[in-house]
Amino acid sequence: MIYFDNASTTKPCEKSVRYLNEYLTDKFFNASSIYKQGIDNKTAITNCKKLIAKTLGVEFKDNVIFTGSATEANNLAILGSVRKNFKKLIFSAGEHPSVYNTALDLQNKGYNVEFVNLNKNGSVDIADFKNKLTPDTSFISIMHVNNETGAINNLTELISIKNRICPNAIFHSDGVQAFGKLKFTLNRDIDLYSISAHKIHGPKGVGALYVKNKAKLNPIVFGGGQEYNLRSGTENVAGIMGFTGAIEEINYNNSVESIKSYIIENLNPNFKVNGEETSPYILSLSYKGINGETLVHMLENEDILISRGSACSGSKVGNRILTAMGLDKDSVVGSIRLSFSRYNTLGEAKIVTQKLNDFSTKLSNL
Ligand code: PLP
Repeated sequence: MIYFDNASTTKPCEKSVRYLNEYLTDKFFNASSIYKQGIDNKTAITNCKKLIAKTLGVEFKDNVIFTGSATEANNLAILGSVRKNFKKLIFSAGEHPSVYNTALDLQNKGYNVEFVNLNKNGSVDIADFKNKLTPDTSFISIMHVNNETGAINNLTELISIKNRICPNAIFHSDGVQAFGKLKFTLNRDIDLYSISAHKIHGPKGVGALYVKNKAKLNPIVFGGGQEYNLRSGTENVAGIMGFTGAIEEINYNNSVESIKSYIIENLNPNFKVNGEETSPYILSLSYKGINGETLVHMLENEDILISRGSACSGSKVGNRILTAMGLDKDSVVGSIRLSFSRYNTLGEAKIVTQKLNDFSTKLSNL
C-alpha cells in the first residue's frame, strides 16, 4: 500500500505505540490519584506538556491543556474565550470545520462574526484582514497551515497588524498541520494554539491547547477540575504518552519536500497545483474536466490511498476552501489532495505520479 493521505491521519510511530501500550497496561493508574503510581503518571503528563512547550519554543508555565482532540481544543479556544461583551470576532474563510462551524454557531447566536477572504495562494488576504480588523475586535482565529491546500499563513505578520489595530484582541491559531511538521518558534503574542497527536504519528483522540494566559479562558467542559479546572475528565494518560512518543520522534529532516517536488515536476501539465508556497506535506491538485473522486477510487484499486479533500469533512468543505481561493467549479470537481509523511519514499512518488498521469489521461479521453 502507498499511503499519501497523511493530512487526514498518520500511522502511529513505534515509540508512540510502545508508550501507549505501557500506559494502557502496566501503568494504567489515574493521574489524579495521590499514591505514587498516580503521581508518577501526573509527572509523565506534565513532562509531555513541557515537551510541547519546548517544541513550540515557548516558556512552560502550566499552560498546556490536554483535550480529546484538536477539534475540542479549537472549541475550547473559541468558546472558552468568548464573553458577552465581545464586539467583533474575526476568522479566516479557510478554517477547518472545528473552527469555522463554531464561528457560524456564534454568528447564529448574535455575535458579530466576520470571515477574512483567502487570496489565490490559499492564505489569508492581508489587505482584507487589515480592512476587517477594527479597534473593537475582541477575538481572532487564523489557522497556521491549511489542511486542504497546505497554504501557510504568516502568523508573525498577522500578529503585528493585530497589535497595531486591536492590541487587546485575543489571537488563536489552529496549528494542527504545522506542529511537528514545520520548524518554527511560536510568536510570543499568540494567545492560544491548538495541536493534535494523530497528525504527527501519535494516537487519535488526543489534542492540546497552548494557553498564554489561563486567566482569560473559561472551561467548556465541567467536572472534576482536571487540567487546571479548564478541561475536566480523567486524563488520557496512555494517549498523552503516545503523544510524547510522537513528539520525541519529530524529524524535520525528511524526504517530503523532494517527494512533493518530484510529483509536481513530473505530472501531466494539465494538473494545476492549488496554492503557492505551501507546506511540503500537502499537495492540492486540480485537473479540469475529470472527477477527483473517480481518480481517488481508481488509485484505491491500485492500493494507493489519497484524498479528495479533508477526511472529516467530505468534499463539501473542499469546495468551500478551494472556492474561497477563486477556483472555478470544474477545478473544484477535478481536485485531489496528496499528503505526505516521513515514512514516504521517492520510489512511491514515482509510482503515484505515473498512475496519476495514466488515469487522468484515461478519464479525460472518456
Ligand atoms: N484542524 C486542522 C487544520 C485539521 O487538519 C484537523 C484534522 O483534520 C483538525 C483541526 C481536527 O483535529 P482532530 O482530528 O484532532 O479533531
